[in-house]
Amino acid sequence: MIEIQTKVGGKSLTKVSGDDLKKVFGEAAFFQSLPPVCPRCKSEFRLAHRCFEGNHYYTLICDNGHQSNLGQHKDGGALFYKAADSWKTWQEIKDEKGGNGAQGNNGSQNRQEAPPDMPSGPPADDLPF
Ligand SMILES: [Zn+2]
Repeated sequence: MIEIQTKVGGKSLTKVSGDDLKKVFGEAAFFQSLPPVCPRCKSEFRLAHRCFEGNHYYTLICDNGHQSNLGQHKDGGALFYKAADSWKTWQEIKDEKGGNGAQGNNGSQNRQEAPPDMPSGPPADDLPF
């Protein structure tokens, strides 16, 4: 039996264990690949899972509603953190999808604007639209 203790989100501890070194190593490496806090607002984040129309979504969501969708390997289904994923709020994702054609370069530039009015209190689990 192999056990590795690692941190999730810089704070909570988790333990991965098993008999297959490569599997245990891979799981610990996944947790260690996560940032300690939300890269945008430096607040803590939680892990969220949603199932929508048969698809599973694994997401990191911070206290201010910034979120990063985790990738899933086609082979074996292991999760991985997409460091380039930009921790957007629902409103920002919605704005992009609503695309009024104002963006001419498919949004590849990182905008440095402050997020729109953020709700106070914990984020709701329901989609606000
Ligand atoms: Zn954040």
